[in-house]
Amino acid sequence: MRLSRYFLPILKETPKEAEIVSHRLMLRAGMIRQQSAGIYSWLPLGHRVLTRIGQIVREEQNRAGALELLMPTIQSADLWRESGRYDDYGKEMLRIEDRHEREMLYGPTNEEMITEIFRSYVRSYRDLPLNLYHIQWKFRDEVRPRFGVMRGREFLMKDAYSFDVDQEAARHAYNKMFVAYLRTFARLGLKAIPMRADSGPIGGDMSHEFIILAATGESQVFCDKALLEMPIPGEDTDFDADLTPVVKSWTSHYAATEEKHDEAAFAALPEDARVAARGIEVGHIFYFGTKYSEPMGAKVATPDGAERPVHMGSYGVGVSRLAAGLIEASHDEQGIIWPDSVAPFDVGLISLKVGDAKVDAACADLYEKLGKAGRDVLYDDTDGRPGAKFATMDLIGLPWQLIVGPKGLNDGLVELKRRATGERETLTPEAALNKLT
Ligand code: ATP
Ligand code: MG
Ligand code: MG
Ligand code: MG
Repeated sequence: MRLSRYFLPILKETPKEAEIVSHRLMLRAGMIRQQSAGIYSWLPLGHRVLTRIGQIVREEQNRAGALELLMPTIQSADLWRESGRYDDYGKEMLRIEDRHEREMLYGPTNEEMITEIFRSYVRSYRDLPLNLYHIQWKFRDEVRPRFGVMRGREFLMKDAYSFDVDQEAARHAYNKMFVAYLRTFARLGLKAIPMRADSGPIGGDMSHEFIILAATGESQVFCDKALLEMPIPGEDTDFDADLTPVVKSWTSHYAATEEKHDEAAFAALPEDARVAARGIEVGHIFYFGTKYSEPMGAKVATPDGAERPVHMGSYGVGVSRLAAGLIEASHDEQGIIWPDSVAPFDVGLISLKVGDAKVDAACADLYEKLGKAGRDVLYDDTDGRPGAKFATMDLIGLPWQLIVGPKGLNDGLVELKRRATGERETLTPEAALNKLT
């Protein structure tokens, strides 16, 4: 992509309304635009990041055997009356009336709808296990939308729903998502720690929030330091095998959010192993048994011939919140530092002298070859000052900057900078291409 043809509305001033660094940087880097309180447009640069995060989430859901579908954002109130949640949900639900005065709502989550789909088609335990997910916009009329897309009112969530014949099978479904989440967040370059979370009326130990540590996080969390260095299950994980050992290796260390915190158990850890910090909830997995299947009549025939309500779990990832969470976890004074896996472009190619025949030719050649090798390149072919160009590239945080100027080219050299470390290397264009492809 040539910057001269791109839409990258960089802000020079630091927006005053933004209280945390990710919100400031997303606005300054031209990633998002607020349209109403807690409602955002994703501008081209932000949209690329959102898409890449969604894709990693998708790949790991698929790897774990979940199946993607797409449910609508607008739901009917009657569906929610069946579960009893229409009245319970309260003011966080955006209620809508259509022209026929039918009550509708903008979905804050999809348990009811997925249960309706399930009960319409599935009759037997032979069709289980089943896990269906989508990546779709949600709306929650948060009391205090803030911190940009971190706590929006409209936000993008991946939500998966598992269906199993009994609690034991549901535990396996839960473990699969537990492992999928470990892999997802690690691929995003994040250390997300599964922490015991409130499991509501069902009880039991089958609810975990995945939390990344950040000073600006809204949750107070407590955990064992060992969890920060745990190995992540590999790509070759067999999701049909028993995953209990992996899950146990994580859950045997202390980790809890404030609601589930046990001060005595925490105090029993050696002092230097105690981490008490702020955290951001980026995912939440939850087994809730027959809470929806029972009132909504989602039953399956079991091996003993009886019909029983199906056991369910739900599994959310805050896809749009992650874009902000990633920036909270990775930035410096100059701007964002994207991990390679989600960067909006892989390389920023900077021409220091647009119009200089040699520089133009070298840039065009590098741009073409990088593109052919499958690299996404943002080519700054505008006639700005070098200082401003460097500042923009540092702000938008692409992993590599490839800098081409007339002086260097006279000696047959270009410069390559790694955004994360600031390391610079002077090398031939061929050597740079080798490094980047
Ligand atoms: P929170 O405690 O932050 O309000 P939640 O527990 O209400 O989140 P869940 O119902 O568990 O949220 O939804 C799954 C995921 O969706 C959360 O883990 C979070 O990453 C994301 N999420 C929830 N609410 C928002 C929001 N208002 N803006 C952006 N992401 C959100
Ligand atoms: Mg909430
Ligand atoms: Mg929560
Ligand atoms: Mg939650």
